[in-house]
Amino acid sequence: MQDTIHALLALQELDHQIYSLRDELRRLPEERAARRAQIDSLIARRDEAHKQALELRVKIKELEDMSTISRQRIRKVENEAAMARNDMALQAAFQHQVKSLKKDISMAEEQGIAHVSEAEVFDKDEAKYKAEIEAAEKLFSEFSGNVERELAVARGKLSELEKLRKTRLSPDINPDSFVLYERLVQTREGVALARLEDRVCQACFIQVPVNLYVRVARGNALVQCPSCDRIFYFE
Ligand SMILES: [Zn+2]
Repeated sequence: MQDTIHALLALQELDHQIYSLRDELRRLPEERAARRAQIDSLIARRDEAHKQALELRVKIKELEDMSTISRQRIRKVENEAAMARNDMALQAAFQHQVKSLKKDISMAEEQGIAHVSEAEVFDKDEAKYKAEIEAAEKLFSEFSGNVERELAVARGKLSELEKLRKTRLSPDINPDSFVLYERLVQTREGVALARLEDRVCQACFIQVPVNLYVRVARGNALVQCPSCDRIFYFE
């Protein structure tokens, strides 16, 4: 069993590094995607502010057009009134029309002024998001470049370690032990073996019973930690 343990320790030395590298290769793109999503949400907010301001300006234009039409109608009514100066009943009706048109104009103007200040708030928001996006994009492009470099380095290291690992797959490791070892590497964050020191597991720091300690010392079979499942070894 000592040969198996030694062979597994030789593998473990590489597998811990391989595990960390694979973790890094997974983590870095995830972090980059999260940062991208943050910027994209800023872009969506900027576009929304832009859209709102635009819609308000369309409304302002409509109100202005309505006022123009109302003014034209006022002039028309005033002309008609000038021509029918002696008809008192008509004069009253014309006055009433003019009054109502002037009221329309003043309401449209008030609404227009309100929309102008609303649109200005959206303009400010848009400008604020624009500045934030610009700064974030700059940082992101820097970060993204670093990620690319780090990923390339990690991929290079990983392929070297994987090559080296093949040379360490020893015939001293029987298939059952290998399956157990591989499962533990996956489930125990790249560390399948634990040193036993003074009856204490150096991975999870539980104290093991004497009989278990004796079994590890005898070295006839692989002995696993009762708490963290890792395979024990002595130095
Ligand atoms: Zn343990």
